[in-house]
Amino acid sequence: MDNQQVDCGCDTIPQSLLSIDEALEILINSAKITNSAQLIELDNTLNRMLAVDIHANISVPSFDNSAMDGYVINLKENQINTPSGLAFEITDRIPAGSTGNALAPGCAARIFTGAPIPKGANTVLMQEECELVENKSKIEVYRAILLGENIRPMGNDIQSGDIILPKGKQLQPQDIALAASVGIDKLKVFHKIKVGVFFTGDELVKPGNTLQQGQIFNSNRYSLVALLSKLGCEVVNLDNIKDTFNATCDALEVLKSDCNLIITTGGVSVGEEDYIKPAVKKLGQLNLWRIKIKPGNPLTFGSVGRCAFIGLPGNPVSAMVTFLLFARPFIKKMQGASHYLNTAFKTQANFDWYKPKPRREFVRVRLDYTTFPTKANLYPKQGSDVLSSMVWADGLIEIPEKTTFKRGEVLNFYPLNEMLS
Ligand code: AMP
Ligand code: MG
Repeated sequence: MDNQQVDCGCDTIPQSLLSIDEALEILINSAKITNSAQLIELDNTLNRMLAVDIHANISVPSFDNSAMDGYVINLKENQINTPSGLAFEITDRIPAGSTGNALAPGCAARIFTGAPIPKGANTVLMQEECELVENKSKIEVYRAILLGENIRPMGNDIQSGDIILPKGKQLQPQDIALAASVGIDKLKVFHKIKVGVFFTGDELVKPGNTLQQGQIFNSNRYSLVALLSKLGCEVVNLDNIKDTFNATCDALEVLKSDCNLIITTGGVSVGEEDYIKPAVKKLGQLNLWRIKIKPGNPLTFGSVGRCAFIGLPGNPVSAMVTFLLFARPFIKKMQGASHYLNTAFKTQANFDWYKPKPRREFVRVRLDYTTFPTKANLYPKQGSDVLSSMVWADGLIEIPEKTTFKRGEVLNFYPLNEMLS
């Protein structure tokens, strides 16, 4: 193994076998958060990363209002909590969007959901509880009434001055709606990061063509572009490049000035046909990590100019899994996300693990929700080339190094739908 030490924007580290946690920590610590932001219309902010804390300049609701269609009343002191029947004269009508007149003691106004509570009024009755009498000029109620019923007080949802959305939040529909509810029409979000990609391997053929002997279709190109699109990155795709040192250098040169990050797949093993390592070394800085992980070892990390570089393994499952475990948190941090690490959920394994392995494994599983607790079933073929395992699976179960267990063991589960969001 190469003993070279490489400066990757963090402390230099030896080329020994790294644990996943060590590799992830180094990677995350060196991720530079994008410093440019833009103000954009609310409709365009879905999934973007908020660049500033958002404060409310108004309270919501900004006035006391009715939670019901019904009657708002001015309940007199001696009428509070009286079980016998009460009658109120109707003196006003207040639809949503209008303001009523002050309500005299013992009087009622027809009111609709969201309409402001008029001066003097102190409680709202549901229309179903009120009987209209005397030619609809009065209502009668036959239950004890308390003060403040069915009134949504001013500031119930948001108080003026509150931070309603924190910097680094990835904006979801409810976040956008909350901003709108305080009257904000534009939000400041971080610029999208630009990721350049290319794919090594002379055996690769673009789908749509016919395979010759020894060739395979380039599937990583599609998983990677889709993964990056899901993360909201701008992708510059150079497609498949020739397995030569010069072609690899050329591709890096093209991407380095324009992109924040370059990601490649394949060509990071120790074979003579693997040119990623020497090309990145020539043009920038490189650290080839052998990580105690399956699938996925090795992973390459470094920089070319000001552009970060991540070289994923070539096998399709390894490429996807290492992207999700390493590149995804790295990218999310670069994007300015405050929550960038993958979230693990505890799940029971529905399989035994007899043979302790030296590397931490991420196996493809599907959850069985028909039982409690939910159990994870293992896909029978766990090879790093078996892409159908990713399609079948709901997620990955993390199996610690040097461990054995019986069915029922509680382990970390990483849902694919969570990691793909
Ligand atoms: P490498 O790391 O280049 O030695 O590639 C490891 C394995 O992954 C080989 O079997 C390659 O054919 C395969 N592979 C590499 N790149 C791709 C790709 N873009 N799509 C599908 N398989 C690939
Ligand atoms: Mg190759």
